[in-house]
Amino acid sequence: MLIATGNTGKVAEYRILLSSWSDDLVGLGDLGITATVEENGSTFAENALLKARFYSSVAGQVVLADDSGLEVDALGGRPGIRSARYGGPEATDEDRYLRLLAEMEGIPADQRGARFRCAIAVAWPDGHSALTTGTCEGEIALEPRGSNGFGYDPVFLITSLGFTMAELPPETKNAISHRARAALAMLRLLRAHSASRGR
Ligand code: IMP
Repeated sequence: MLIATGNTGKVAEYRILLSSWSDDLVGLGDLGITATVEENGSTFAENALLKARFYSSVAGQVVLADDSGLEVDALGGRPGIRSARYGGPEATDEDRYLRLLAEMEGIPADQRGARFRCAIAVAWPDGHSALTTGTCEGEIALEPRGSNGFGYDPVFLITSLGFTMAELPPETKNAISHRARAALAMLRLLRAHSASRGR
């Protein structure tokens, strides 16, 4: 199955999350696919679906795509679907989470609630598709901690564990993350699909 992302951190997470379904997951880079599609949907679900459909038609095979991001309550849900673009096109992951911490400066601990949200779409070359979603609740830390994961992980605190996502080993992140929850739901759909139609 083709995972429609150029983010190697995400491909690595999906290799673990979907290992019971396939041991042959490839990213866009592995197939030399350079085509891009504008993520102009207004929700995570719309963006995941449009990417999965686009790359399925480009590659002529079944494609999984996701869209994810961080919603911060004190910022009215921002950066949301603009999480990857927060801080401008040249910003690094570190630039983005430092900018978020700066924007959150002075916001007290009890008002720092946030969640990661993920939508996963799978599209088949015959045009049909499936969609699942997952969330992971937490809060924005006061300072970055940890070096695992990617993106906003160093500043996303899992309140119940007292660790940031970047302090967790990959196995723990992959048990509780928004992507893990959406992927588990997708695994169930894929199994049902496979049982009814064949892969
Ligand atoms: P996209 O889904 O690749 O468009 O990513 C959206 C943005 O949310 C990027 O800036 C990611 O770094 C961030 N993001 C998505 N999932 C995670 C995660 O599991 N941890 C940290 N940041 C994430």
